[in-house]
Amino acid sequence: MSPTYDDIPFRRAGKSGLDLPAFSFGLWQKFGTDHPFQTQREIVLHAFDLGIVHFDNADRYGPPHRAAQQFFGRVLQRDLAPHRDELILSTKAGNPIGRSPYQRGGSRKSLLASLDHSLRDLGTDYVDIFYHHRQDDGTPLEETVGALVSAVQQGKALYVGVSNYETARAHRAAELLHAAGVPLLVHQPRYSIFDRTPELTGLLGQAESDGFGLVVYSPLAQGLLTDKYLDGIPAGARALDSAFLKPDAITDDYRQRAAALDKIASERGQSLAQLALQWVLRRPEVTSALIGASSTAQLDHNVRALDFPELTPEELALIDGI
Ligand code: NDP
Repeated sequence: MSPTYDDIPFRRAGKSGLDLPAFSFGLWQKFGTDHPFQTQREIVLHAFDLGIVHFDNADRYGPPHRAAQQFFGRVLQRDLAPHRDELILSTKAGNPIGRSPYQRGGSRKSLLASLDHSLRDLGTDYVDIFYHHRQDDGTPLEETVGALVSAVQQGKALYVGVSNYETARAHRAAELLHAAGVPLLVHQPRYSIFDRTPELTGLLGQAESDGFGLVVYSPLAQGLLTDKYLDGIPAGARALDSAFLKPDAITDDYRQRAAALDKIASERGQSLAQLALQWVLRRPEVTSALIGASSTAQLDHNVRALDFPELTPEELALIDGI
C-alpha cells in the first residue's frame, strides 16, 4: 500500500514551501463510533492509495467528540505508521467539545490542552497542521496566536492554520504569526458553488496578498452538489442521518438549481460532483478541496474531477447565473 503519486496533482500552500494534494480527506461525519470500523478503515486507506495524503481531523469530530481521531489513531498504528512521513495530519481545537470553559474558545489553556489530547488520540508525536477551529472574539487574538506559535515551538505542530475566521481577523492573525516567525500556512473556510462567501468577503484576495493557502471545506455542499438528491433522498445519504444536513434542505428550488448545474456538467462529459470540485480548484488561491466520502467509489469518482477541460468564461457565467 502506497500511492503512486500519479493520480492527483499537488499544489503549493500560499507562499510556504509545503505542497498539499488537490484533494484532502476530512473525517467530520461517518467516522465516529456510529459506523463500522472496517468500512471507515477501507475508505481512509483507499484515499491514501489514491494520493490523498492529507487527512483533516478535529477534537470535535465523532460522535462522540474525539472518536474520529481515536479511529484514525487505530488506522495509523495498524496500517499507516510506516508512511507517517508521507502523511499530512491536521487537527483543530476551539469548537466546543464539552461544558468546561477549557473545552472551547481560543485561550492558550484550551488550545494547548486540546492539542495534547489530540496527539494522544492520534498516537503521534506531532501533527502537520494545527488549526484554531473558529474565531473567538472573546479572547485576544494575541493569546490565540501565541498558543499556535507555542505548538510549533514545542514540536507538536509543523504548521498552523485558522478556520472560519473573518477576512480582517485572518489578516491580523497572519500579521501576528509572521512577526512571531511562524507564518500562517492555511485558512480553512467553507467554499462551493452554493457558498461564495470567500469571494464576497475578499478572503481569496487576502490569501493571495498575505501568502496563505486556502483548504476549502464542503466543496460538494455536503453532497448537495452531486446528483444524489435529484430524484429523492437515497438510503444511507447524509441528509437522512446528520445533524448538519436535514431533509428539508432538499427543496424544489434546490432541485431546480442542482438539475441546471447537472446539465452543464453532463454537457462537459462530467458529473455534477466533478464539476463542483473543478469549480473550487479553478482558483489558484485554493490549495486543496477538502472532501468527505462514505464509500471508496465516491473517492474514485471525485478524484477524476481535474481530468476535464478548464471551465470557460461562458460556463462560469452560466454557473453564476444559477
Ligand atoms: P463534501 O462537501 O465533500 O461532502 C461530502 C459528502 O458528500 C460525502 O460524505 C458523501 O455523503 C457525499 N458525496 C461525496 N462524493 C459523492 C459522490 N460522488 N456522489 C454522491 N455523493 C457524494 O464535504 P464535507 O461536508 O464532508 O466536509 C469535508 C471535510 O471538511 C470534513 O470532513 C471536515 O474535515 C472539513 N470541515 C471543516 C469544517 C470547519 O469548520 N473547519 C466544517 C465542515 C467540514 P453521503 O454520506 O451522503 O454519501
